[in-house]
Amino acid sequence: MIGNEDIKAGGGWKMIPWVQPRSVNLFVFHSVEAKGQTGGGSWSTSESLFQDQLDFIAENFQVATVSDVINLRNKPRKGKPLACITFDDGDPSWMGLVRSELADRDLRATFYVATNQIFDRPIWHDRLRFCLNAIRGSKIDLPWLGTRNLPYASVNEKLKAADSLARLMKYQAPEVRERMLCKLEEFVGGRCESSGLSVLDLRALVSDGHEIGSHTKSHPILTHCSDSFAENEIFESKEILSDLLGQKICSFSYPNGKPGLDYLAKHVEMVRKAGYESAVATARGGLLSSTSVWEIPRFSPWGRTWFSKRRQVFINSLFRSKSVEQQSGERLRILFVENGSGFGGAVVALQSLIQSIPDQSLSVGVVAGLDCNFKEASCVESVYSASTHSGENNSVFLFLSGVARKLPRLVGKGLVGRLDDLFLRLPYFLKLLSIVVRFRPHVIHGNNEIVSNREAMLVARCMRIPYVQHVRGPFPKDTRLGYLLNGPSIFLPVSRWLYFSCIEAGVSVSRLMHIYDGVPKSSKRHGNKRPELCGSQGDGADVQGCGSPIVAMVGMLVPWKGQELFIDAVGIIFRSLPHVKFLIVGAPPAYMNGEYKDRLIKKVQNLGLEGIITFTGQIEDVAQKMSQFDVVVSASIDPEPLGLVMIEAMREGCYFVGPDHGATAEFIDSRDRGVLFKSGSAQALAEALEVAINYRSFTDANTRDAAKNLPIEVDMATHAARVVAVHEAAFVGLDA
Ligand SMILES: [Zn+2]
Repeated sequence: MIGNEDIKAGGGWKMIPWVQPRSVNLFVFHSVEAKGQTGGGSWSTSESLFQDQLDFIAENFQVATVSDVINLRNKPRKGKPLACITFDDGDPSWMGLVRSELADRDLRATFYVATNQIFDRPIWHDRLRFCLNAIRGSKIDLPWLGTRNLPYASVNEKLKAADSLARLMKYQAPEVRERMLCKLEEFVGGRCESSGLSVLDLRALVSDGHEIGSHTKSHPILTHCSDSFAENEIFESKEILSDLLGQKICSFSYPNGKPGLDYLAKHVEMVRKAGYESAVATARGGLLSSTSVWEIPRFSPWGRTWFSKRRQVFINSLFRSKSVEQQSGERLRILFVENGSGFGGAVVALQSLIQSIPDQSLSVGVVAGLDCNFKEASCVESVYSASTHSGENNSVFLFLSGVARKLPRLVGKGLVGRLDDLFLRLPYFLKLLSIVVRFRPHVIHGNNEIVSNREAMLVARCMRIPYVQHVRGPFPKDTRLGYLLNGPSIFLPVSRWLYFSCIEAGVSVSRLMHIYDGVPKSSKRHGNKRPELCGSQGDGADVQGCGSPIVAMVGMLVPWKGQELFIDAVGIIFRSLPHVKFLIVGAPPAYMNGEYKDRLIKKVQNLGLEGIITFTGQIEDVAQKMSQFDVVVSASIDPEPLGLVMIEAMREGCYFVGPDHGATAEFIDSRDRGVLFKSGSAQALAEALEVAINYRSFTDANTRDAAKNLPIEVDMATHAARVVAVHEAAFVGLDA
C-alpha cells in the first residue's frame, strides 16, 4: 500500500522529465540467477542486473502492486511516476534473492503463479530445462523431435538449442507438448521433480505485502488450446489460489502474453468473466488512462548504463500498446499468395486450410493458378489469377531479360544473374502490387516457400504490410538471400525438421512458429470390403475379395520418391512373403514423360516380380481409399518436408514404413504406428517391410484404431484457428 507521505515525497520525477507522468511502467521478471549459477536460460535475470534494475526502479518510480496501481492511476497525485514490478511463472529464487532484495528496498511486487507447481507438477519449461541439463554429448540427435545433429557443445550452442527447443515446444497444443516432454524425459532417464514454490512460500510473499496473481494452472499458450481447456485454466487457477491464500485474486497474467499470438479477444472475455479485475500482457508500452486494464503492457529495461535504462523507459512510454480487443471488431483481410511453382501439396494444403476458416474470422483473397478452385470457401472474397502470360508487357520484359542475359561480358556475372531474374519476375511483381492495391489486405501470406514467394514478400515490404511465410521445403542456405530472413514477420514451417532447417539457415527463433498442416477427415470408411482400385491409366489393380495383405507405395512417379528402392526391397523379400500383394500407386507428373515409369516396369520384369508388384496408376481420392491398404510405404530418397500421404495413411489406420529422415521420423515415434528404415538402403527397407507385415498380421481392429491416434494434432479446425492467430499476431505486430 502507498501512504500519503510517499505520494507527497516526489523528487525523482525530475530525473526523467520526458516521460509522460500519467504513463505507468510495469516491469516484468521471471527468475533471478545467483552469482555463479547458470542454466536459467534467456528468461532468467542475473543477480547483478536485477539489483541494478531494482535500484533504478526504486530511485525513479513510486512502486505499487498491480491492483493498487489500477486504483491509484487516475487519482490526482504528485511525486514520482507509478510503476509495478511483476514476476511470472514461479521460481525458487523468488523466496531467496528476490524476496530479500525487494525487502531491502521496501518494494511491493506482484507475483503471477502457474498453480500446478504448487502440487509438485513443474511448468513445462522447467521440465525441458531439466532434460537439457541431463543431455550428454556434443549434439542432440532426436529425429522424432526434428533435431538432426543439433550442435550442443559450447555454451552458446547450448543456449541456442535451449531457445529453439523452448520455442518449438511453446507453440504446441498442450497434449502434443506433454507427449514431447514425456519422450524427452524417457530419453534422458529422469524427470524434474522439484516444484518451484509451495503454499507456504506464497503465504510468506503475501505476508510481506506482495500481491499474488494467477498465471493459469499449466502455463499453456491460450491460442493453442481448445476454448474449454483455456477457460478451465483461467477459472480454476483463480479458485485454487484464493482457496489456498484465503483472499481474493484480482490480477491475471496471460502465459507468454503477446497480444494476438498468445491470447485473443475471446480469452480477454474469459478473464473478465472469471472475476479478475485486471490482466497483464507482455507487449511494449506504458499503462495510460486510455489503456485497457485487461491487456496491460509490460516490459523490462535490459540496459546496463544510466543512460540506456532511461532511454528504454522513455521509448517504452511513447509506444502505443497493442490490444486484441480494440481490433476484434474488424475482420482481418488476408491475401494468400499461391504462385503454383511449389509442389502440388502446397495448393492442396491451402485449399483445405481456407475451407476450414470460419467466415466470420477472416476475409480472404487468394492469388493462385487458374486451375485451383478456391471460390467454394465461404470466407473467400476474391480470387486473382497468378498468371502473367496475357498482355504485351511480358514480351517487353522477356526482351529486357534476354538483353540482360547477354551482359556478362560487360559487367560481373553475379549481378547479371539477378538483373536477368529481375526482368523475368517484374511482371508478376507488378501484378501482385496491383492486386494488393485493390484488395487492401492487413496481412499477406506466402503459401509456398520463401524463394518462390519473394515477389509477394517484396510487395508486402513496399506497401508496409505484415508478411507471413509458410515454409514447405528446406530453407535455402544461400547467404546472398540474407534479406529473405528479415522480410517475413512470421515463418510457418510445416514440420519440426523444417523448423530446425530454418534455424540452421539463420532465421531468428522469435520469428518461427511450427504448425503442421491439417488433414481433412475422410468421409467414408470401407471396412473390410475392398472395392476395385481403379487406376486412371488403364492399369488398375483388382483387389476385390482379395484376402491377402496389401502393401502400397503411394506417390508421384518421380525418382526422388524412391520407387526403385521399393522394387529392390520387394525383390529381396517376396519369396518369404508369398501371400502379400505389393502396389505402386501413382502416375508421373504432367511435366515428365513416361521414361521413368518404363524404367520401373523394366526393373520389375528383370527381377521377376511381375504379378507380385502391380502398377495401379493414378487413383482418384486415394486418401479415401487408403483404408484398404494394410501397410503404406514411403521410400523417399530426399527428406520429406511433411508428407500428406503419410498423415492420411496413418489417419486411416494403415501401418506406415518410412525412411529415418525428414518429417517421416517425427510421426513414426512408436511401433504401434509404423517402422523406420535407414534411408536409401533396400536391405533395410526389406527388413522393415517384413516387420510391418508380421506386425499387421497379428493386429486386430482395436489396434488399428489405436494407430489412428496421430502423435500430433492435425484436426483442420484447430489448424485453421492457429493460422488465424498467426495472422492476428502479424497484424498486431510482434515485439522483439
Ligand atoms: Zn510465464
